[in-house]
Amino acid sequence: MIPSRVGGQHLRLAASRPNPGYRPSAASFKPARRPASGGSRNVSSSSSTGASGSGSGSAPNAKIPARLPGMAENDHDVERYLRENHQRLFENNKQWADQRLKEDPEFFTNLAAGQSPEYLWIGCSDSRIPAEAITGLQAGEAFVHRNIANLVISTDLNVMSVINYAVRHLKVKHIVVCGHYSCGGVKAAMTPKDMGLLNPWLRNIRDVYRLYEKELDAIKDEKKRYDRLVELNVIEQCRNVIKTADVQHSFEENRYPIVHGWVFNFEDGRITDLSVDMKKILGDIQKIYNLTE
Ligand SMILES: [Zn+2]
Repeated sequence: MIPSRVGGQHLRLAASRPNPGYRPSAASFKPARRPASGGSRNVSSSSSTGASGSGSGSAPNAKIPARLPGMAENDHDVERYLRENHQRLFENNKQWADQRLKEDPEFFTNLAAGQSPEYLWIGCSDSRIPAEAITGLQAGEAFVHRNIANLVISTDLNVMSVINYAVRHLKVKHIVVCGHYSCGGVKAAMTPKDMGLLNPWLRNIRDVYRLYEKELDAIKDEKKRYDRLVELNVIEQCRNVIKTADVQHSFEENRYPIVHGWVFNFEDGRITDLSVDMKKILGDIQKIYNLTE
């Protein structure tokens, strides 16, 4: 469970895996270990095996063909590297499933019985912020939604459906909007140029800048201004969560969910609570956004 916290305090990093460098791109490609026998060999690797979720980890075998005539040696190594990195996930999955069973023979029986998470997590899609790992939450404890720069947009059917289901059906007690310093989405929004398909998405962050233009422009240090926009974006997304009818109705009836704004820091693995005052925001916005009548 997430320990209680007060404004400005940090959560300790519960767990992390030092794997920030995994990028199977040509630029960073490292050939995988060669098979001892040479030529073709068996691996358990297929995206269409249906093995995922079985917990067995025994995907049907597929063969890596020997290097074809005309195929460059490096291409062959790339192919093997990609297959082995895919297969690694099945091996991890099997170890995870085996360990859960070892710790609790009823683990998967309970998991299959249903979910009643107390937390809805709305975070950035950035691969370095695994919600459960950094908070110590286990399977079944958090309902998770992630997108670029952790935005909550009223016309986004995806995030609105997640909030609706989490609040009305799962009856979550807390909604956490967690942003992070060094967010690429926020950085892109600070760059006044055409970002193509991302323009309408980033515009929501640019609108946050416009709302706080005076405060942000007064910060001369660009890094500090960037950090502050990350924080203000989180606070505005919390406000957007509170504007929803689902949250307003539930809070009036049950006094929950409580909405929290957090920021994760890559440099020390800590989460900072921005101390979003939900009751004050709710009171402020209900002059215009009251949906409980
Ligand atoms: Zn981000």
